[in-house]
Amino acid sequence: MADLTADGVGNDTGAPVGMPAVRPDLVALTGYHSPQIDVEVRLNTNESPLPPPDAWLQAFQSELAHLDFNRYPDREAVALREALAESHGVDLSQIFCANGSNEVLQSLMLAYGGPGRTVALFEPTYTLHGQIARTTGTTVAAGRRTDDFRLDPDEVGRVLDAHQPVITFLCSPNNPTGRADPPEMIESVVARAPGLVVVDEAYGQFAPSSALDILRGASAGAARTVVVRTFSKTWSMAGARLGYLVATPEVVEACELVALPYHLDAAKQLAGRLALDYVSEMETRVAMLTEERGRIAAALAGLPVETWPSEANFILFRPIKRSARQVWTDLLDKSVLVRDCSEWPGVTGCLRVTVGLPGENDRFLEALNESLR
Ligand code: PMP
Repeated sequence: MADLTADGVGNDTGAPVGMPAVRPDLVALTGYHSPQIDVEVRLNTNESPLPPPDAWLQAFQSELAHLDFNRYPDREAVALREALAESHGVDLSQIFCANGSNEVLQSLMLAYGGPGRTVALFEPTYTLHGQIARTTGTTVAAGRRTDDFRLDPDEVGRVLDAHQPVITFLCSPNNPTGRADPPEMIESVVARAPGLVVVDEAYGQFAPSSALDILRGASAGAARTVVVRTFSKTWSMAGARLGYLVATPEVVEACELVALPYHLDAAKQLAGRLALDYVSEMETRVAMLTEERGRIAAALAGLPVETWPSEANFILFRPIKRSARQVWTDLLDKSVLVRDCSEWPGVTGCLRVTVGLPGENDRFLEALNESLR
C-alpha cells in the first residue's frame, strides 16, 4: 500500500506527482462484477430474459416525447412513488426510489452506517451488502448460515447480541443460494434486532411471502422493517436502473438526506411508473420462469452436481468431481455464460445459473451435460 503524506497524497505509487492516494480502507476491496462477455446465452446476472411488454414500450415512447428535457425532473418523484405506494398498499411517504436497489442500499448505509457503526449480515448472501457497507466506512459483522443456507436462530442471536448492529441485512430469496427465509424466521429476527432490519427482496415476486406483511402489520418491529425491491429482475428493466424501498417515513426522510438533488432522471421515473400498469404481464413472465426453473432443477437432479431448492430465478449448484472453474470454462466454450461463485464466502466450488428462455436453458443443460460426462 502507498505511504501517505499527512494530506493523503501518495508518494511512492509511481503515479504522477500530486496524485492523491485512494482512501486506504478501499484498497483491499476488489469489487463485485460479473464479466460482461459477448456470448449467445447469457445466464449470469439474474436479469429477465424477456424485454418489457410491447404495450409498455409504446406508452413509454409516446410519453417520452412530452418530457421537458430542458428542465430538472421532479425531485420527489411523486408520480412514480404514488404508483408504487398504491401497488403496495402504503403511503407515498413510505417510498424512497434510487438508481437501482444497490443505490437504495447505499443510501441506507450513508444515512445509518458510517465510521463507528456496524451492520450485520449472514453469509453466504448478496456480496454487495458487505461491499457497500465497507465503502461507506461501516463495520461489517458477518454471521454464518447453516450448511444448507438457512438462518440459524442461535447464530443470529449471537451476532446481534455481540455487535448491536444499526442495520441487520437479510436477503429473501437469498442471492446466490435461492432460498427464501420463512416469514416466522424474519419476524423473529425483527423482534430480536436492535436496529433496522433491511430485507432485500430483489427476487421477491418469486417468493411465497414478503416482509411487506411485517412492515404493514401491527407488531412492535413493523417500524424497523425495511423492504428493498428492484425493477431489474422480474420487471425486465435492468437497463433503466431503478429500485426502491418501502419503510416507515422516518427511514425515507433519512435516505433523502443523503440523496443528491434530482438523482432520478425524468425518463426513469416515467419508465417505472408505466411499468406498474403491466402487472399481469410481469406475473406471466414470473410463471414462465418458475416453470423453467423446475425443469432445470429436475435435469440437475440427474447430474453429478449438488443443488439446493430455489425460490428465485436462478439455481446454485456445485459440480462434483470436476472443478467449478473448469465447468464454467467448458460452458463458456459453448457460448453459455453462468456466474462463477466458486470463491465467494460459504459457496466454495459453486456456480449459479439464471433461468432463461426455454431454448437458452436447453443450451445450458446440453453444455453442462457435456462438461460433466
Ligand atoms: N439485491 C440483490 C439480492 C441482487 O441480487 C441484486 C442484483 N444482483 C441487487 C440487489 C441489485 O440490483 P439493482 O441495483 O439492479 O436493482
